[in-house]
Amino acid sequence: MTVRDFVFAARLPRVVFGAGALRRLPDEMAALGLTRALVLATPGQSALGERVAALLGDRAVGVFAGAAMHVPVASARAACAEARRLGADSAVAVGGGSTTGLGKAVALETSLPLVAVPTTYAGSEMTTMYGVTDAGTKTTGRDPRVLPRTVVYDPELSAALPFAITAVSLLNAIAHAAEGLYAPDRNPLVDAIAEEGIRIAAGALPRLQRDPRDMEARGDALVAAWLCGTVMGSITVGLHHKLCHTLGGSFDLPHAEVHAVVLPQAMAYNAPAAASAMARIARALQAPSAPAGLFDLGRSHGAPTSLAEIGMRAADLDRAADLAVKNQYPNPRPLERGAIRALLQRAFDGTRPG
Ligand code: NAD
Repeated sequence: MTVRDFVFAARLPRVVFGAGALRRLPDEMAALGLTRALVLATPGQSALGERVAALLGDRAVGVFAGAAMHVPVASARAACAEARRLGADSAVAVGGGSTTGLGKAVALETSLPLVAVPTTYAGSEMTTMYGVTDAGTKTTGRDPRVLPRTVVYDPELSAALPFAITAVSLLNAIAHAAEGLYAPDRNPLVDAIAEEGIRIAAGALPRLQRDPRDMEARGDALVAAWLCGTVMGSITVGLHHKLCHTLGGSFDLPHAEVHAVVLPQAMAYNAPAAASAMARIARALQAPSAPAGLFDLGRSHGAPTSLAEIGMRAADLDRAADLAVKNQYPNPRPLERGAIRALLQRAFDGTRPG
């Protein structure tokens, strides 16, 4: 094996993992010296937010249950104002990537430390990436201040995550790892974590389809989220994530579902220029080919396979292709408008990569 030159500086949160680990949150806050937490949640998970605040007792100053998809700037401003009004010394984000994203926006604006309790498999808690959406435009960046100090992974909290969301969320996790395997700044440690993350995520899917309350499988899924999120936090993403960002941001398509549809097609596009990454993905999936294996994994677990079925309009495909090639970025296969337009057509139709 030839190892490319690399520079790697791990920057990772403390991780507390286990069924019932939520109960350890007060001790974790105490260890950080935090005594006035503002708990963040979505409106749909406000009861969980209240439960966490009650668990924190005197260490919580309130609950802000206004997190929303893609972190609208208004919700970020409202959460920061609430943190200041209550004299919070920290934020605790309890929920999926949208809630973690709100916590990151608060941490960025106020410099308050963030603690995350993830309940989906998006993996945002392991990255320094943040994003805020203003008037339909999502601004993203990286800042070490937004990385949670501690992450509490408790599989019991995702026991009630509906299987449809579970499936697309795990495919979202797999997408982070898949792009890590051909990233320009990858290294052997990241490669190993990525392959293992994909293997564990793919192994959890059929078990959770049979029984969404299979706690061992929920634990595996959360481990996969941790591993795949760690990969995403360590590398520069390529075509797949950029396409999903464009499709989600400019055409208002649902985040995890877009990942599920685009992933096999983006891998098919990059396959000719990323043979070893494809071999590792295929091995992790125990499939003959990475793109078709990913397509089959999604389809057999009820994930959407076409952009048409998640609300994209055929008339927007040309504009999507224009936007996708507007800025160049590192990707194993050069970005070529005609080929990207063809990729988008296959994603729109839900064509199985051949
Ligand atoms: P989400 O956070 O929007 O959650 C989807 C819905 O599921 C929400 O209504 C939420 O309240 C609900 N939910 C979450 N956990 C639940 C549970 N256990 N039981 C029942 N309902 C539950 O979706 P997501 O896919 O986790 O996150 C998507 C967002 O995260 C996007 O905005 C994306 O850009 C961002 N993201 C960011 C990064 C990063 O590194 N910055 C990485 C991945 C995703």
